[in-house]
Amino acid sequence: SSPGRRLPSWLKRPLPVGNENFYTESLLRDLKLETVCENARCPNRPECYSRRTATFMILGNVCTRPCGFCSVPRGETVEVEGDEPARVAEASVRLGLKHVVITSVTRDDLPDGGAEHFFQCVTAVRERTGAAVEVLTPDFLGDRAAITRVIESRPDVFNHNMETVPRLYKRVRGRAEYRRSLDLLEQIKQQAPNMVTKAGLMLGLGETIDELFDVLADLRAVRCDVLTLGQYLAPTLKHIPVARFVPPAEFDELAARARLLGFQQVVAGPFVRSSYHADEMVPH
Ligand code: SF4
Ligand code: SF4
Repeated sequence: SSPGRRLPSWLKRPLPVGNENFYTESLLRDLKLETVCENARCPNRPECYSRRTATFMILGNVCTRPCGFCSVPRGETVEVEGDEPARVAEASVRLGLKHVVITSVTRDDLPDGGAEHFFQCVTAVRERTGAAVEVLTPDFLGDRAAITRVIESRPDVFNHNMETVPRLYKRVRGRAEYRRSLDLLEQIKQQAPNMVTKAGLMLGLGETIDELFDVLADLRAVRCDVLTLGQYLAPTLKHIPVARFVPPAEFDELAARARLLGFQQVVAGPFVRSSYHADEMVPH
């Protein structure tokens, strides 16, 4: 039986009808761009597109890390394309985006992890649009110079996901390190105290609520501003199975408790992705 058959009722949503995405899809194809929205067939597309938000995936769609929850392929990475920043900017103009999220796979094979390319992409979008720009970056192996370069592009929001609790890191995030990810968020606030920082976790991987709140306390200790909490859904049967489906009412309770810790904004719910309602934090 397909894993979808066992989804609880609140995770069943009608598929978007019609071909409203056709324009977006063909435009992205023409410009040879990848988005997480299309690649992951994200269920939030109709809503995000109507809010003029999209998430571009730069630096290719092949990753150097082996995370157990992620469906991005591993293997031979692609060459960095010098014209990609211009193409991301062009797509942002043509789609009339008001909030551009730029993310990438983890490129441990590049000397700077792709930081300069992030800088160029943010800068190119800035030059062509009035859109708010959010980066959702890998950990750059903790390379402070690389992280500094991304900070220098002055994104409106700097997002880095914690994904899960430290006990589950090895199984879920492969070669990532919990402290390294916290240090990245801390470095941003040290160098740019007014830059909005953001982090996300997936629930339903086997974490306990106490473990979750230990992470949230650690995030507040490094002055993280925005938190996203979503439901983990296994992309295929080969990925880590879902340990638990968190009911919507529990997401609401967790969000209320998280707000008491001092986050400026908490976005929590079964369909929340780290780029969902990404525009709410930034005035346009
Ligand atoms: Fe794209 Fe993120 Fe919205 Fe999904 S939640 S459609 S990935 S911007
Ligand atoms: Fe997926 Fe990111 Fe892990 Fe790569 S580092 S496998 S893109 S979650």
